[in-house]
Amino acid sequence: MKTSDVSTLDRPKSRQHFQSLCEVIAGGVNSPVRAFKGLGLSPLVVERAKGDLVYDVDGHEYIDYCGSWGPLIHGHAHPDILNVAKKRMEMGTTFGITSVIEEKLARQIIKHVPSVEKIRFVSSGTEATMSAARLARGYTGRELIVKFSGNYHGHADFFLVQAGSGVFGLGSTSSSEGIPHDIVRHTVCLSYNDTKACREFLLHPENSRRIAGVIIEPIAGNMGCVPAKQEFLEMLRNVTHQIGAVLIFDEVMTGFRVALGGAQALYQIIPDLTCFAKIIGGGFPAAAFGGKKEIMDCLAPLGKVYQAGTLSGNPVAMEAGLKALQMLEQEGFYEELERKTNMITQPVKELLHTRNIQACIQQVGSMFTLFFGRRSVTSMEEAHKLDIGAFADFFHYLFSRGVYIPPSQYEAWFVSMAHEEHHLIKTRDLILKYFKTK
Ligand code: PLP
Repeated sequence: MKTSDVSTLDRPKSRQHFQSLCEVIAGGVNSPVRAFKGLGLSPLVVERAKGDLVYDVDGHEYIDYCGSWGPLIHGHAHPDILNVAKKRMEMGTTFGITSVIEEKLARQIIKHVPSVEKIRFVSSGTEATMSAARLARGYTGRELIVKFSGNYHGHADFFLVQAGSGVFGLGSTSSSEGIPHDIVRHTVCLSYNDTKACREFLLHPENSRRIAGVIIEPIAGNMGCVPAKQEFLEMLRNVTHQIGAVLIFDEVMTGFRVALGGAQALYQIIPDLTCFAKIIGGGFPAAAFGGKKEIMDCLAPLGKVYQAGTLSGNPVAMEAGLKALQMLEQEGFYEELERKTNMITQPVKELLHTRNIQACIQQVGSMFTLFFGRRSVTSMEEAHKLDIGAFADFFHYLFSRGVYIPPSQYEAWFVSMAHEEHHLIKTRDLILKYFKTK
């Protein structure tokens, strides 16, 4: 095993593999942010991972703070999750028909998230949010969906309007080409955390009768970690109730990450529908949307809102997800995870403060972002003013020393229970050294 603790990593195999991948896979990646675009580096090509470490095809190891973008709260290849998944695989990997394990995971989620009375499983966050929006439209008989700039809700056509992280900089009115104007005009994008402007928009009689649903990341992760203000979410709850629109919390990233009950438990706000993905699959593809019975019962076959999926409720993913969620119930789990996270964030916050450095850390539990060029970020308008060049330099510095953080300024880092203290200390010291020598 080569040591990664050198200032520049030589990665000839990674480069070769990436070139070869590019011949057969569009852009060499199956999701754009994996391409390390704008970072001036050949992307990471992973061979395997275990605990808090990923290994590239050149044999370098990296301490991983991306965690597959959030699902891996127990780290890579946790033996307990692997065991249940293996056992389940022996019983058949997909049936395309109802099985009892689906009920177990459904009850596990409902137990911890009281706003969810009924649920439906899908396979990705994109499917969950897309289906929740359709359901909101079917339930209300209205068409308009309100979202917030810098919030990402997957890549369904009507959500790709100022959609955060991976879609920044693709540059057109919608965040992507290939989306008919007729579709985007049913989406309105408002400024995150701007309580007054948002209330006015929602309550305007021209709008209020047309709004089917308001969807929000209650703690945004897709412009970096930007928590909503309490008063902002309270206003959304009250006003959507008043105008008869469905309030959808997109907790794909925050669900079971920031607390067992998700962001809604921290804010004590009860949305009508919630979307989950990432952690609920235990590292396998599972996602879900759920909420009030009255709304969920509008789904086919009970109701007239169609929604379906060949691999929905996949038994292996359900089993892995169930185990992952059960492990979160361990006494003091979230406190310990936050303690681990604070081992990095507290000393860095202190240094940034005492040295008056134009950067900041925004954190909720085990998710956080180190922002360059600003002392706080509350909206995408502010996120646009960040120093992306400084982030690229920092990413380079950490990556070449064996620390892998999400390869974009507009993403959240995730700490897992598998993170070892000496790795957290190594990361902390590298970051402190970086700022001290600046
Ligand atoms: N919603 C949020 C808040 C997300 O962070 C993501 C993905 O990162 C999605 C939806 C889409 O999920 P998926 O990539 O599983 O389609």
